[in-house]
Amino acid sequence: MKLWETGSEKRIAIAGNPNVGKSTLFNELTGLHQHTGNWTGKTVSNAWGRCRSNRYSYLLADIPGTYSLLAHSAEEELARNFLCHEKLDACMVVCDATCLERGLSLLLQIMKIVPRVLLCVNLMDEAERKKIRIDLGILQTRLNIPVIGTAAQNPGCRKIVLDALDQLMEENRKPLSTPFDMQDILTDQAVCQMAEYASSLCREAVCQNPSSAPAAYLNSFDRRLDRILTGRFLGYPLMALLLLFLFWITIIGANYPSELLSTAFSRLEEKLDAAARAAGLIPWLRDLLIYGIFRTVAWIISVMLPPMAIFFPLFTLLEDAGYLPRIAYNLDCCFQKCHSCGKQALTMAMGFGCNAVGVAGCRIIDSPRERLIAILTNSFVPCNGRFPTLITMISLFIIDCFGTSGDDASPASPSIPAGFSGRSLLAACCLTALILLGVLMTFLVSRILSATLLKGKPSSFVLELPPYRLPRIGRVILRSILDRTLSLLSRAVAAAVPAGLILWLTANLSFRGKTLLSLCSGFLDPLGRLMGLDGTILMAFLLGLPANEVVLPIILMAYSGQGYLQELSGPGSIKTVLTAQGWTVGTAVCLCLFSLMHWPCATTLLTIRKETGSLKWTLAAVLIPLTAGMVCCILFHAFVRL
Ligand code: GDP
Repeated sequence: MKLWETGSEKRIAIAGNPNVGKSTLFNELTGLHQHTGNWTGKTVSNAWGRCRSNRYSYLLADIPGTYSLLAHSAEEELARNFLCHEKLDACMVVCDATCLERGLSLLLQIMKIVPRVLLCVNLMDEAERKKIRIDLGILQTRLNIPVIGTAAQNPGCRKIVLDALDQLMEENRKPLSTPFDMQDILTDQAVCQMAEYASSLCREAVCQNPSSAPAAYLNSFDRRLDRILTGRFLGYPLMALLLLFLFWITIIGANYPSELLSTAFSRLEEKLDAAARAAGLIPWLRDLLIYGIFRTVAWIISVMLPPMAIFFPLFTLLEDAGYLPRIAYNLDCCFQKCHSCGKQALTMAMGFGCNAVGVAGCRIIDSPRERLIAILTNSFVPCNGRFPTLITMISLFIIDCFGTSGDDASPASPSIPAGFSGRSLLAACCLTALILLGVLMTFLVSRILSATLLKGKPSSFVLELPPYRLPRIGRVILRSILDRTLSLLSRAVAAAVPAGLILWLTANLSFRGKTLLSLCSGFLDPLGRLMGLDGTILMAFLLGLPANEVVLPIILMAYSGQGYLQELSGPGSIKTVLTAQGWTVGTAVCLCLFSLMHWPCATTLLTIRKETGSLKWTLAAVLIPLTAGMVCCILFHAFVRL
């Protein structure tokens, strides 16, 4: 990368075991927002960022966590190659203060290949809580390198690290002559000796309260919690209940902000319309800009933003607390039965936010066969972009099957059931059921793939269960809204503008007396009807390829016949539009099924192409969920008709 190769900045790699706070430190130093989370293996590629001290400019690289330079997983190889082959001015090795020994073992290996090394003993606050005392002076003397102690989340840690880096830069240590063969430097025997030395060093420098020693873990709070959360009988129901709880909070919490946004946008639209008329804008351009583009964007923001701004922070809190690896542990036996890897549960969970992130995260799976299975099945869990469509369908049509009262059925916002009502709980139950169907399909398709195209036995793996950590609630909420929610939202808006434009054009350009829109919809209609949908819905899915979020607005725009959204501010107005087109509960269920199982969005497809390096597998990633979705829809529709 050019950024790294040129320039006068000091180039520093941040290395260390997984889950020791490297990305948190990187973020503190650079002001960037790398993904942090309390589980092993979440950093799968290098991230770069800059920061300045009083004396130097630094270019920092946050590299994937590794336990040893001799390790072989894809991301560990990436870390090793980076340390061995990049021209580094220094490496900051981050260790976990509560688990220093294995961090030191890696440090000793890195010291063999990088001339200037700074040891940063992080998570000092957690060590203090566990009554572990670390004598940084002894470490410094014995290792003969600078050593600092940090709690990455404390504001003062930035200065501590930068001061130490500044001092390190003054040291005159000679770099190794490159290129060198690492095998000559790091033989298995040498690594064994280093581990022994790390162990003896820890005996000297670490003073541990007997009650916090590893043996005492059996009685610890973490262990007791694990007995419940990963217990044989309670593990699964608790996972489902947690998911239900997340959705319920999301659904009830999103209603009022959604309504407020919707009202605000409709007022703004009136003003824009008046301004456009006053400015004498030609009618078709006014229609296109205000009713085509602005209204779609407003709809996406008011319907998507509130649920995402609630779901993401809640999910991130669970991630920060350390629950994700417990999910992987619980689901391991299911994935084993499907002849795939239990780590797939982690990548599946990442897919909830964004399937592209889930696909990139599959690098944590070592076996290429199992990695491919995880990549090909990732889109069976709906990303956040698909939630609004699912929630809308459930709350407008599906829960009516359960005979809930009509009054309660008047949502304040177009799509979300109001208040702490039975309806909102029912909607959350339906959404959970749909997500569980997606998980079941992941198992089923993984099993089919491992019996056919990707034959093989499941490999065993070691998954570290991290300690439960109290998440930094304020920060998590802020960061997940600012980073994840807004970035996804801006992607949806960016996709909505061209989609709105294309739709408007197809609705207004005619060929032999018929608009392009009706020609395309008519062409797809027989297939759509077979699946319990219609041609317009299928076309909306095709136009929604850049981002799933735009599918429902496109359907509504297409039904209007003019290529723009009708006024949808009143309660139930979406339902009125849809029922006028012959929609029934069956249509809504088929739409949910197809939304759950069709092709991945364009960003995810590009990521799949990049990760697999193969067009064939990218095509498979389209065809597999599409076939599953079509089969489910056709079967369901046939069942309903019967
Ligand atoms: P990485 O895998 O090494 O990049 O680790 P992360 O930066 O993602 O951090 C792992 C988890 O530890 C996250 O949940 C962080 O919020 C948390 N964390 C990081 N540094 C500290 C620290 O100094 N103290 C405490 N209590 N938690 C920390």
